Amino acid sequence: MSSLRPSPIAPTVDFDRDGVQHGFLRLPYSRDDSAWGSVMIPICVIRNGKGPTALLSGGNHGDEYEGPLALYDLARTLDPKDVSGTVINVPAMNYPAFRAGTRTSPIDKGNMNRSFPGRPNGTVTEKIADYFQRELLPRADIVFDFHSGGKTLEFVPFCAAHTLPDKALEQKAFDAVAAFAAPFSMRMIEIDAVGMYDTAAEEMGKVFVSTELGGGGTSRAQTVRIARRGILNVLRHAGIVDGAVEKTRTQWLDMPSGDCFSFAEDDGMIETMVDLGEPVERGGVLARIHSVGRTGIAPQEIRAKMSGMLAARHFPGLVKAGDCAAVVAVHV
Ligand code: CA
Repeated sequence: MSSLRPSPIAPTVDFDRDGVQHGFLRLPYSRDDSAWGSVMIPICVIRNGKGPTALLSGGNHGDEYEGPLALYDLARTLDPKDVSGTVINVPAMNYPAFRAGTRTSPIDKGNMNRSFPGRPNGTVTEKIADYFQRELLPRADIVFDFHSGGKTLEFVPFCAAHTLPDKALEQKAFDAVAAFAAPFSMRMIEIDAVGMYDTAAEEMGKVFVSTELGGGGTSRAQTVRIARRGILNVLRHAGIVDGAVEKTRTQWLDMPSGDCFSFAEDDGMIETMVDLGEPVERGGVLARIHSVGRTGIAPQEIRAKMSGMLAARHFPGLVKAGDCAAVVAVHV
């Protein structure tokens, strides 16, 4: 690792300068329509003297909007007079994906959240991951990465952190989740944590907090309000922004095992049998998949492997074998 070359990304901001800076992470990207061109990833740095550093990101997946809506807004409105320390704000982390409105990058099909630790001489997506891994994460005391369901999933609005082997770090992350004060707060597990930004930050010993705030490739008024209030709450909780945390009631949820997830085993048309936030019983039918190639075929049933609440569902009306059909979470 120590022999890695420097990142090709050149920031146009100075991370140690006080005040507000709106600039770019400029990533050289030579291509047919721009021989010496670059990808210009927007970044805002707001600093006021010594203090902790928060690293905020949205658009890790390019078709999720609550994070970018909250973070572009924060960049316009946060007054450095109200800050102690530094806020590094990257509202659209996988900027090529964000501009294309797709989960992964149209340049290299890179999924940012499966690309860590990245490579300085890799694809565009790997170069962005590498810059976060080696330049931005080490600066941060708290890392906040917004997610929503994107085009293919929809979630009840929750803020989340992972259960971790380091219980002191885990508690700091759950305290920040509580401060975010989304309607739901999740003790989260992952289907596949390899290559995730989350894992990279946690392995570095950083407090890492994330969200799932909706989905379907769009946003809603309620979920954007949750995102905007929540991120200010987390910055207040971290002592970086002045003011008291705006407390509201949150319901804690747990994902106790991989039995939370249900996957489609057939292609077809999906019929959800339970709406988001509704209770489910172990063995109950969460969804039915209707075969559409001919009439007269009974639908396949997807049954809950545990009792709890429907926390996420497949969003589009058509489903393929292997798609995540439903996620059940348990009230704590
Ligand atoms: Ca996501």
